[in-house]
Amino acid sequence: MAKLRERLERIVSEDPRAADLPGGPAGPGEKACLWRPEELFVYECDALTLTPSRPEIVVFPRSTEQVSRIVRECRTDGVPFVPRGAGTGLSGGAHAMPGSVVIELSRMRSILELDPHDRIAVVQPGVVNAELSRAAAPHGLFYAPDPSSQQACTIGGNVAENAGGPHTLKHGTTTNHVLALELVLPDGEVLRLGHRSAMAPGYDLVGVVVGSEGTLGIVTEVTVRLEPLPEGVETLLVIFADVVSACRAVGAIIRSGLVPSALEIVDQRTIAAVEDSVYAAGLPRDAGAVLIAELDGVARALPSQVERVRGLCADAGAQEVRIAEDDSQRALFWRARKGAFGAMGRLAPDLYVHDAVVPRVALPEILAQVCEIGDRYRLKLSNVFHAGDGNLHPNISFDRRDADELERVMAAGREILEVCVAAGGVITGEHGVGNEKREFIHLVFDEADLAAMEKLRDAFNPDGLCNPGKILPTPRACAEANPKTRGYDEVLQG
Ligand SMILES: Cc1cc2nc3c(=O)[nH]c(=O)nc-3n(C[C@H](O)[C@H](O)[C@H](O)COP(=O)(O)OP(=O)(O)OC[C@H]3O[C@@H](n4cnc5c(N)ncnc54)[C@H](O)[C@@H]3O)c2cc1C
Repeated sequence: MAKLRERLERIVSEDPRAADLPGGPAGPGEKACLWRPEELFVYECDALTLTPSRPEIVVFPRSTEQVSRIVRECRTDGVPFVPRGAGTGLSGGAHAMPGSVVIELSRMRSILELDPHDRIAVVQPGVVNAELSRAAAPHGLFYAPDPSSQQACTIGGNVAENAGGPHTLKHGTTTNHVLALELVLPDGEVLRLGHRSAMAPGYDLVGVVVGSEGTLGIVTEVTVRLEPLPEGVETLLVIFADVVSACRAVGAIIRSGLVPSALEIVDQRTIAAVEDSVYAAGLPRDAGAVLIAELDGVARALPSQVERVRGLCADAGAQEVRIAEDDSQRALFWRARKGAFGAMGRLAPDLYVHDAVVPRVALPEILAQVCEIGDRYRLKLSNVFHAGDGNLHPNISFDRRDADELERVMAAGREILEVCVAAGGVITGEHGVGNEKREFIHLVFDEADLAAMEKLRDAFNPDGLCNPGKILPTPRACAEANPKTRGYDEVLQG
């Protein structure tokens, strides 16, 4: 591995074209590779902390050509490699087993083009989600997919996970906003997929790569659609005695034909954690749940829509409706919502953020069952979720050093997923399958479906070296041919 590291270091630090790269040459203190145990500590996991393990090397390329050369070197040595953005993933997608190389894209962070006429941006994969919207704002535009982690997560990670966010309800997920991609294949070849006009003929390979969780190659450039900033925005904070009533209100709003830009529910335990934290926004601590409902569009149309939402919430049992008075109060509500996972760090050392989708009509009943499961397993379970999409996030706060509690966390998690699938839902809405839910993918797809997916993956990634062990188990033939990828399943099984 020392020899491989030296080769990778040279690719990055001795690049004769470094001065001409979009991000320029490496800044002071920016190492090409990390490899000392203490440096690798933060690469043991992403935001799913259940199965930590350390890679051998982390390398920081600064260009597509460097990524391609790094991949070729890894392949020559038969070493698995794992693309990584900001490491905020919640399903272990960027998890790297011992003996592997992490290729971190965070230094490819330039916005290469922002075209207000065609409303598109061309960005490197390490651009942070929120930075793109900040850069587009002076042109009256924004990038719509807004994961709650948007101050940290990267566009490359968003593409790989097909990330969603509170405003997915109206604007769609990442896949609806990606027009074209540059992809370094696991053999080092560079492909350009899709077209900035959104009219690419042939197979929709952009659609295949979005959501592929880094198993088909490494995304090195992304062309995205930008949206015009809405003329008007209204944000309501609706207070309910319990989370089930809030879910009923969401069902009624959707049935009414209104198209809010966001419908988010925060339950009582989450409110308490948020109000005790730096994200405090004056949420009512005695509420059973709050619904954040946002409407946007033509300013003149909004007052009547606000009244309709207010009426529908009252019918569902709302106790009070507060309306954000200005942009700074609106920002406060969203800061509280988007900071909720972080605030839960106050409740316990570990947080298991679940992610499942159910038909919206089933929300009240499923939420009641999820809470019952949490109680039955004696767990600290809270809910903060994209209710308008039926996308649940039951969050379990726990301490993984307590073996008995950890066992209950895992058993409850399985039951929650089973209940959601039985109601006609799926095992993930936006966080991906990663290594976390590989064993649950059978709940949604049968053998023939999975075999087709395996064939697709093998066409891009035939020897399984690119992000092994994610989404689907490593194919047996690859594992036999390459003991280094076989090791992955053993690591996961502990
Ligand atoms: C507090 C918090 C809130 C969150 N809220 C949301 C939310 O509202 N909506 C949502 O969808 N997610 C959410 N997430 C999950 C996470 O932020 C997203 O999945 C995000 O898209 C991951 O981006 P990242 O840059 O951190 O990627 P990483 O975690 O580094 O990687 C994620 C996956 O992408 C792959 N990958 C990364 N970069 C590339 C690349 N350039 N080419 C190919 N593959 C690549 C990795 O191999 C891995 O499989 C949240 C996470 C946290 C911690």
